[in-house]
Amino acid sequence: MSILVVGSVAFDSISTPHGKVDHCLGGAATYFALAASYFADVRVIAVVGEDFLPQHEAVLTARGIDTRGIETAPGLSFHWMGAYAGAMNEAETLNTDLNVFADFEPKIPAAYLDSEYLFLANIDPLLQARVRNQMPDVKLVCGDTMNYWISAHAENLAKVLRELDVLLINDGEARMLSGEQNATKAAAKVLSMGPKSLVMKHGEYGATAFFGAHSFAGKATSRPFRAPAMPMAEVVDPTGAGDSFAGGFYGYIASQPELTPEVFRRAMFYGGVMGSFACERFGTERLQSLTREEIETRFKLFREMSHLAPEI
Ligand code: AMP
Repeated sequence: MSILVVGSVAFDSISTPHGKVDHCLGGAATYFALAASYFADVRVIAVVGEDFLPQHEAVLTARGIDTRGIETAPGLSFHWMGAYAGAMNEAETLNTDLNVFADFEPKIPAAYLDSEYLFLANIDPLLQARVRNQMPDVKLVCGDTMNYWISAHAENLAKVLRELDVLLINDGEARMLSGEQNATKAAAKVLSMGPKSLVMKHGEYGATAFFGAHSFAGKATSRPFRAPAMPMAEVVDPTGAGDSFAGGFYGYIASQPELTPEVFRRAMFYGGVMGSFACERFGTERLQSLTREEIETRFKLFREMSHLAPEI
């Protein structure tokens, strides 16, 4: 099964209490694609500048990711500067240079048109909508966004929200989007804006799924579901953890024959697994060289960490 992702392929300059990196490969679509590549075929739609070199593309192609939809335009690639302090649960954005993304007109290569799963990673909602409109027959649409787009592009975002089977955002973004402080009320309000289900990420505390009345064909699930996060003694760089969560979550869903409530729950665990790996090193380093065995071992740990048998 193939996943088509549109989002940023970028260079990031990051500072955390563990150090600094300048212009390392990043971007929401990059993290998503790397994490999802352990589960399914992934195809990327993005634009990069002339500073994106063969060695950067090789990070993706080495994982079997299809990069034919990454267009090169004159100018520089998207550049994001962020810093983390304290509990490192949220990045402080120091600067965002859209660069070549400012005039991007996404074009879907013919070879991508049969993709069954669409992921609208964090990028201008106008671009998300353009890609969605060119892929009317996909089986499932899942998307992400962030405060940058929520605050200044609300109208375009509202149109995208109505198209989503699953929206993945963090709790701060859900509060911002809904104007509600209580997470459960925020979830209800976000669901009323269109997505069939909502995965609310809580950084180091895991994630909660909330379901609307039409989350699963014929199978109503009204109870929320909470998945854990890995308690980690050392978080080196949380950049991309959310996108890697999304990649693990959606990659696992795409690897299964049908989206059932059980698959959704396991997918939340795989999301947590991939998010935790992303934090272990700066940039994409850890996601480039994982093995399926490492992923399954951590998945088992997640199960054990949160299992309470009926007899207890
Ligand atoms: P995450 O830490 O998973 O929320 O995502 C971090 C990634 O998002 C970084 O690699 C950035 O390049 C990318 N990013 C940051 N701001 C934006 C934005 N406004 N639009 C698209 N991508 C962004």
